[in-house]
Amino acid sequence: MTEVDLNEYIFHPAPVVSLPVRGLAERFPVHRIFCVGRNYADHAREMGHDPDREPPFFFTKPPEAVVPPGAALPYPSATRDLHHEVELVVALAGGGRNLTTDSALDLVYGYAVGVDLTRRDLQAEAKKLGRPWDSAKAFAGSAPCSEIVPVERIGHPTKGRIALSVGGQLRQDGDLAQMIWKTPEILTELSKLWTLAPGDLIFTGTPAGVGPLQVGAQIACEIESVGRLDATLLGSGGASD
Ligand code: MN
Repeated sequence: MTEVDLNEYIFHPAPVVSLPVRGLAERFPVHRIFCVGRNYADHAREMGHDPDREPPFFFTKPPEAVVPPGAALPYPSATRDLHHEVELVVALAGGGRNLTTDSALDLVYGYAVGVDLTRRDLQAEAKKLGRPWDSAKAFAGSAPCSEIVPVERIGHPTKGRIALSVGGQLRQDGDLAQMIWKTPEILTELSKLWTLAPGDLIFTGTPAGVGPLQVGAQIACEIESVGRLDATLLGSGGASD
């Protein structure tokens, strides 16, 4: 990496956040993180919504949300109800706006296994009060993510098991084929709202079975044909008690 010229800045800029890539020494530099809400009907139902009448909606996380494989994952502050949501992650190497579903997949570099960690208690409060979700979704360490697997190795997964267990107990067990909005549709919808760019990650929603995590939880995620993500929730994050 090039040295930062401190004649240009008053202090060191934030470091580049990155993820490893299967089979390569070079890493994937993360730009932005977009997340799709309620993209599996059974999860929409468990959260009390009708999956048939809702167009896709999006929220974001900052790059510092990313927790690369093997990095420490502390329990976050200010919550007593941290939930797991296992998700297929789409990683872009291209960009653009107003994409068509025919060309959208050309932007995709690869795929990964991610967890959209959520302070469910703060999210419930935000929903009730009509407030933004940022404090519930966009905290540092809220997006553990596996290595990225290039498209040239696995193609574009559209079906296959997506599962998460905690301490060996199966919590979430779905199939990518259950996604209401498919990857090309998610990209075209996103590109109406943002100009997509290389380095963007898209978390594509979670199947049913979300639930709370305790300090010490051993989280094991698997997406068929994509890979695995294993993480242990540490207790050093300043939990409110
Ligand atoms: Mn989610």
